[in-house]
Amino acid sequence: MQFEKKLEENDIHAMIKITFPDNSVREYEEGITGLQIAESISSRLAQEVLAASVNGETWDLTRPISEDAAIQLLKWEDTEGKHAYWHSSAHLMAEALQALYPGIKFGIGPAIENGFYYDVDPGEGVSIKESDFPAIEKKMMELIAAKEEIRRKNISKADAIKMFSDRNENYKVELISELEDGTITTYTQGDFTDLCRGPHLPNTSYIKSVKVLSVAGAYWRGDEKRPQLTRLYGITFPKKKMLDEYIEMMEEAKKRDNRKIGEELELFTFYQVVGAGLPLWLPKGTQLRLKLEEFLKKIQQQFEYEQVITPHIGGKQLYVTSGHYAKYGKDSFQPIRTPEEDEEFLLKPMNCPHHCEIYKAFPRSYKDLPLRLAEFGTVYRYEQSGELHGLTRVRGFTQDDAHIFCMPEQVKDEFLKVMDIIFIIFKALDFKDFEAQISLRDPENKEKYIGTDENWDKAERAILEACEEKGMKARVELGEAAFYGPKLDFMVKDALGRRWQLGTIQVDYNLPDRFELEYTGADNQKHRPVMIHRAPFGSMERFVAVLIEHTAGKFPLWLTPTQVVILPVSEKFNDYAYSVARTLKMQDIRAEVDDRNEKVGRKIRDNELRRTPYLLIVGEKEAENEEVSVRKQGGIDQGSEKLTTFAHRIKQEVDEMMNPQVNI
Ligand SMILES: [Zn+2]
Ligand SMILES: [Zn+2]
Repeated sequence: MQFEKKLEENDIHAMIKITFPDNSVREYEEGITGLQIAESISSRLAQEVLAASVNGETWDLTRPISEDAAIQLLKWEDTEGKHAYWHSSAHLMAEALQALYPGIKFGIGPAIENGFYYDVDPGEGVSIKESDFPAIEKKMMELIAAKEEIRRKNISKADAIKMFSDRNENYKVELISELEDGTITTYTQGDFTDLCRGPHLPNTSYIKSVKVLSVAGAYWRGDEKRPQLTRLYGITFPKKKMLDEYIEMMEEAKKRDNRKIGEELELFTFYQVVGAGLPLWLPKGTQLRLKLEEFLKKIQQQFEYEQVITPHIGGKQLYVTSGHYAKYGKDSFQPIRTPEEDEEFLLKPMNCPHHCEIYKAFPRSYKDLPLRLAEFGTVYRYEQSGELHGLTRVRGFTQDDAHIFCMPEQVKDEFLKVMDIIFIIFKALDFKDFEAQISLRDPENKEKYIGTDENWDKAERAILEACEEKGMKARVELGEAAFYGPKLDFMVKDALGRRWQLGTIQVDYNLPDRFELEYTGADNQKHRPVMIHRAPFGSMERFVAVLIEHTAGKFPLWLTPTQVVILPVSEKFNDYAYSVARTLKMQDIRAEVDDRNEKVGRKIRDNELRRTPYLLIVGEKEAENEEVSVRKQGGIDQGSEKLTTFAHRIKQEVDEMMNPQVNI
């Protein structure tokens, strides 16, 4: 004891061991910072690094490290690095706002997936409008040029409350009152101090280009009964070029907005009188959706799913049994009552309870498993009207749902098969870039979860192995599993690089328990099956929205509502045009005639705007020879062709897509 103490006293430069992600270890003096470590490696790295992960926690680059630690230096490419960058940018915007709007009060200002926002209360009678953005951006650039140091400080709860009360920052005071003493920190830059956990950049000059994007109203803490604040969204980048590219992408995204294209292509519409968030699918949109369903049903059939149909409402007891009523009942559409018997029904929020009842319709043996029940089941979920958005957030939607009931040892095989289905679908629809997330149990907190340890281990291993066998790179998140089972989620990247969460495969031990599902095993004993929920699209609505924005409405030939439009060069050839359309329709090709009394150039332009894959121009020569003059999407002139040849070619192209090669 004595000896150790002596050593410490003598050792002025105590050394600590820093372990890097590649497991290499270097020794540094105690109190070294992430930034200094980066400098010790290379000056280039020091310029690129934004924050440091220290023993799994993200830290400021300037925060001293006083003991052995595993560290990872975080750059722009790392989510946490970008997060620190954008969070610091939120502070920068707040500092600018404080300078421009004296008396402004601050709510919260987090980093989000793309940029950041800050909720502010500019004060009685003051509003912040789009026309004010340039002034805010200018101020932000000034503060960047000042290269203000961003300093972290621990503060007692009492001091924090006093400090923010003195400045009438009532929103901050409310936040502080909920924090535990000893855990509170502030960050200061220039004249601006924020209550904040961090982490942050070392100084404001890391931020190179700024853009205030939009302004919206937001209730304090999301509560309609609390004051409405002003939410300012912004984004920043370490390079001007990156901002320019981002703005360009945003403009392209606006052009591709599913609501805009949905209207242009007459796919769907919404009316207040029908109900917010309840889409009306127009004939062309319905055509598209039915094609998608047909495509999915074909695959399901190949993978031995059985289709079922269940009602749109269900007796309340069904959801009491499933547990949904206790969990979501209050925040759902309220029960419907029958006038005479006073029975209570709920709008169906999910299909699973119904499918459990179908499972129970017969005694099941191990020979019946896996049982795969599929349904394009329409469900209704209450969303606040402010949350609704085109087809991506609706109140009534149809899931491409299925539930697989299987034995625990079949989970892996079933996962592999569902992954096959998802890959076939993504390929057919040209989503080349996708990633997966595996959500597992929190190993430290096992009692939180329902189901036996053994089954969890089996299912978690099954998911990990299935991903490995498929060569699927997946991020593993511990503690992200639902209480009832682990899951695998798929995210696709669209043509603009935006990420959308789509398909899910989810293991469930809870519902089989609650519904007391059983099968007779080979041992003649009763066993509980495992249930797997899976929906490759998530919902038809959301998927169509993503597809619209991914393709900008240029759907693949097999899917597009109108595949061919025939354009007679003059009224004289209308009859021939209609006979061409009839021939194509006989071949299952979706064809229309544009017989408007317009110049053919105008017709071509209009139909190209409608993203028609093939335009057939017909005049005297074509009529005489039973030919069509083919113009492919994108203005590609393919010359004249026999009508029968064209029809055969198109039909083949469509059939290939509609019947994907499945190797089971
Ligand atoms: Zn902060
Ligand atoms: Zn389900």
